[in-house]
Amino acid sequence: MNDQPAGFVNRPVPKDIHLREAIDQLRKEKKAVILAHYYQTGDIQDIADFVGDSLALAQWASKTDADIIVLCGVHFMGETAKILCPDKKVLVPDLNAGCSLADSCPAPAFAEFVKNHPDHTVISYVNTTAAVKAVTDVVVTSTNAKQIVDSFPKETKIIFGPDRNLGNYINSITGREMLLWDGACHVHEKFSLEKILELKKQYPDAEIITHPECKQPIIEVSDFVGSTAALIKHTSQSDKKQFIVATESGVIHDMRKKNPDKEFIPAPPNDSTCACNECEFMRLNTMEKLYNCLRYELPEIYVDRKVQEKAIKPIRRMLEISEQLGL
Ligand code: SF4
Repeated sequence: MNDQPAGFVNRPVPKDIHLREAIDQLRKEKKAVILAHYYQTGDIQDIADFVGDSLALAQWASKTDADIIVLCGVHFMGETAKILCPDKKVLVPDLNAGCSLADSCPAPAFAEFVKNHPDHTVISYVNTTAAVKAVTDVVVTSTNAKQIVDSFPKETKIIFGPDRNLGNYINSITGREMLLWDGACHVHEKFSLEKILELKKQYPDAEIITHPECKQPIIEVSDFVGSTAALIKHTSQSDKKQFIVATESGVIHDMRKKNPDKEFIPAPPNDSTCACNECEFMRLNTMEKLYNCLRYELPEIYVDRKVQEKAIKPIRRMLEISEQLGL
């Protein structure tokens, strides 16, 4: 089980230390690697050994020779690293960093769904628990979902879970009729079409760029739809100088670093007047928690060995197909 010692998460750090230097020192002493998702705060992205999207983090975890992996992201990302590296210590600064999308797909219900469709190939988005991956044939991320779906013959019957928006989007661009699990990410679902269109009036030259976890009406008004990595790459390659960004606003940190001459406008959610859309789970990780996590080597991710042995197969399959496709 994954235990977070009571009170550990808010343990204070010594007042006299320089956090960045202390984290750096601990990382070297313990032969640890810090992997951070693009949705982490800028200070965590800046100190990480590697910043990436879900595919890149899995690829990096599968190759590292570090003794300890500190995954600055959410729980399922730590689990993915642990599944790939069962003999390494995998830490996540705050185990409360969950994911509404992974939670929308409870393993027993998904396993029953799969059992009821025995002639279907099961494709699961990486945003799932280890137990869901254990009943999956191949895992995908938003970076490789289309290509992996395309790698199956047209007549293959496919279950795609858990994100209905990504599934609908992949169906629309591949002409498939995959059977979709009815899950969603609360962050990507709450962008407001009206507010995005108002922003477009204010910034008529801006491109609307969108993650495929967003709802279809947002996708339809977008100039570019892509994974986190694809969105970042697009902003560097596009001639445009302004972008309305419909995804978690943490990615803007990297977009700005790579394109200091361009303007990035976070698309607003529908339930707030603020111009940001942050995943509260991702933002649970802080520099203080990262320091304590390295210092005490807690909280640690555990995955049941039998589940791990099953779940590693669809992840490896994803990594192999991605390598063949040059992703
Ligand atoms: S942004 Fe959505 S999909 Fe990503 S970790 Fe947060 S809740 Fe999960």
